[in-house]
Amino acid sequence: MAKIELDHIRHAYGANPKSDKDYALREVHHTFDDGGAYALLGPSGCGKTTLLNIISGLIRPSEGALRFDGTDVTDRATEERNIAQVFQFPVVYDTMTVYDNLAFPLRNRGVAEADVARRVNETLEMIDLKDRAHRKARGLTADQKQKISLGRGLVRSDVNAILFDEPLTVIDPHMKWVLRSQLKQLHHRYGYTMVYVTHDQTEALTFADQVVVMFDGQIVQIGTPEELFNKPKHTFVGYFIGSPGMNVLPAELDGAGARIGSQRIELPRAPDGASAAGSLELGIRPEFISVGRTGMPVTVTKVEDIGRRKIVRMSFEGRDLVALIGEDDEVPAEPRVSFDPAGINLYSNSWRVEA
Ligand code: ATP
Repeated sequence: MAKIELDHIRHAYGANPKSDKDYALREVHHTFDDGGAYALLGPSGCGKTTLLNIISGLIRPSEGALRFDGTDVTDRATEERNIAQVFQFPVVYDTMTVYDNLAFPLRNRGVAEADVARRVNETLEMIDLKDRAHRKARGLTADQKQKISLGRGLVRSDVNAILFDEPLTVIDPHMKWVLRSQLKQLHHRYGYTMVYVTHDQTEALTFADQVVVMFDGQIVQIGTPEELFNKPKHTFVGYFIGSPGMNVLPAELDGAGARIGSQRIELPRAPDGASAAGSLELGIRPEFISVGRTGMPVTVTKVEDIGRRKIVRMSFEGRDLVALIGEDDEVPAEPRVSFDPAGINLYSNSWRVEA
């Protein structure tokens, strides 16, 4: 498997791009480590598939270079890159047996039949289709077919990376969970470099060691699920990850604190003036807001029971504010809120102000 370096990659679909908005990928400059499991996560149109296709060679980037283990592959065709790809819909040969579907990419590369048998049997084991090896693919369910597609990605020992483009779209919800867990196990066992595109945060957070959050043609943060939750680098990450997402409130610096309307909030650490220049916002996740009889006054607009928790929707200094409280917690008649300093992040022009 390979380390993948994306060196100042930019891509525009149209000719003569002039400004950032003409680029589907504005600037991507990152390295995916050998053996890492990455999820590319972001809303529709943010550039996930474009980036995946640049890695696989289906698209040549307008600018920048792509390297696998230090070798420049920017101008190499897909076949020369040794990439396995699994798409949204299963790509299987219905008239072939499950075994032959898996053997196909190996036989195509002239692998000796004894090695084909060994690899195919190992892969059948991995994807749990051994008992169906000699059945035609035609009669199988959608998730079994998608397992064959996954297996075809896993069967080759020479691939640099396995790329997945929303591979679980056609799978029913229960099987989704099963397949995702299996992929994660396979990753831990065999150390593949995996890049997995999805717009579903649960899928990304459970599959990947590192989640790559994309927004508007850029990577805004690469981090573990915990980092994305606790220290969103960009207000978009705070809003996109988590359910409900982070509260983002316009603020002003007031000594070592932040002012929101008429309220002053103590900050966990005082930002320096330079890094906190520009338009300031305070970010706090609903999990870090407590609702009770002490603190800053709010008006509660709605309380939603979501099982083990309640979502409290409020108005605070003329802004919407959301808190998550326990199912047995009551909202008092004259509610007030307090912010846990551990959950406060400060943003300047949408980017997190570092300590
Ligand atoms: P989705 O989840 O909807 O697939 P995505 O994050 O994968 O979205 P891309 O498909 O990479 O996003 O698209 C990024 C931008 O590039 C979008 O604005 C899209 O309209 C544009 N785009 C994608 N493919 C083409 C193309 N072949 N020609 C022109 N523009 C394109």
